[in-house]
Amino acid sequence: METLSEHYCRLLGLGAVWRVVDVDLSLEAQRVVIRIEDVPSQLVCCPECSQQRPRKDHAAERSWRHLDTMQFETILTARIPRTECPECGVRTVAVPWAEPHGRFTLMFEAFATRLLQSASSFQKACVFLRLNWESAQRIMNKAVERGLRRRELDGVQHVGLDEKSFGKGQSYISIITEIDGGRVLEVASGRDEQAANELWETLSWEQKEHVEAVAMDMWQAYENSVDAHAPEAEIVHDRFHISKHSNEAVDKVRRAEHKQLKQAGDETLTGNRQLWLFYPENLKDPNWLKFSELKDAELKTSKAWAIKEQFRWFWEYRIARGAETFFMKWHRWASRCQLKPIQKVAEMIHGGLDNILSWFNHRISNGPAEGFHSLIQALKSAARGFRNFENYRTRILC
Ligand SMILES: [Zn+2]
Repeated sequence: METLSEHYCRLLGLGAVWRVVDVDLSLEAQRVVIRIEDVPSQLVCCPECSQQRPRKDHAAERSWRHLDTMQFETILTARIPRTECPECGVRTVAVPWAEPHGRFTLMFEAFATRLLQSASSFQKACVFLRLNWESAQRIMNKAVERGLRRRELDGVQHVGLDEKSFGKGQSYISIITEIDGGRVLEVASGRDEQAANELWETLSWEQKEHVEAVAMDMWQAYENSVDAHAPEAEIVHDRFHISKHSNEAVDKVRRAEHKQLKQAGDETLTGNRQLWLFYPENLKDPNWLKFSELKDAELKTSKAWAIKEQFRWFWEYRIARGAETFFMKWHRWASRCQLKPIQKVAEMIHGGLDNILSWFNHRISNGPAEGFHSLIQALKSAARGFRNFENYRTRILC
């Protein structure tokens, strides 16, 4: 019959150089300690040049936490041989079960990563794994770095640059996404040109040359970064951001008007802020009834809303020329409406029109990235736990 040592040796997949010499099972401590040794007759390799070299001595004993055996915490211990390499000097041999300097086995890290990624609460996963927060975060950071090194970035054609506020106050992060693949490629702290440049570093120059278009808000710092890193790429001020600005403008008009009306005791605009932000076709009774009355009323807000709503036709054109003609008419209407926020948006769109019309060539938007936005939102609400930006980055990229 197989001995316990042989059994563990096979389970760990140790190969010829290593053997399990002892399995110490402590019922009281609920712990299994597996002692591993190198087989003296087997040659070892220098970890740097991979050449077979003689042993010099053994490093001090170390231990690694492994996957539990049933409910028993399981620890591997070993003294790792050191080689004396004529080229590289004295080096500690690499072990098959862990990374250099790791405190956990690779199998444990793989399991912990899966669990930490899929658990709704990082904290609960830590409790389940009996890991403290720092160790869990370190395991995640390593897994993400490995994933980033392995991923394929050739063929990225459409990217999105976007910002998101982070933590307390006005601190921002910048995000670069691959729009077609629907994945976040990198995040950087801040939303200035330097942050955007850091994001671009994710791609090699060859890969950057391949990028055809970049979806983004009208933000000079990001535009500059495109000029510097992907000068051939077209900038697309996308639908997602334009509609955000227009909605904000309608809301500004509504707020000012609401204040005025309220002072005169008129509650027409009380409690219907959200209704103005929905697409009307998405409204259901009784909201639709309520809203159709409001939108037809003699209100500044209704007028602002109607102008904004009209602009949606812009995106329905098949080619840029048609959309441009439509825009010119819309712009005349919007600039005469005497509602400052709407006029401002009209001017903004007018100023960036070339990079909005480019949408008709690429039809990309940061909209599809909304999945990321909700992910980031969820992480933000859990942000108490992120003690630094690096940890936050890991959780977005994992
Ligand atoms: Zn060597």
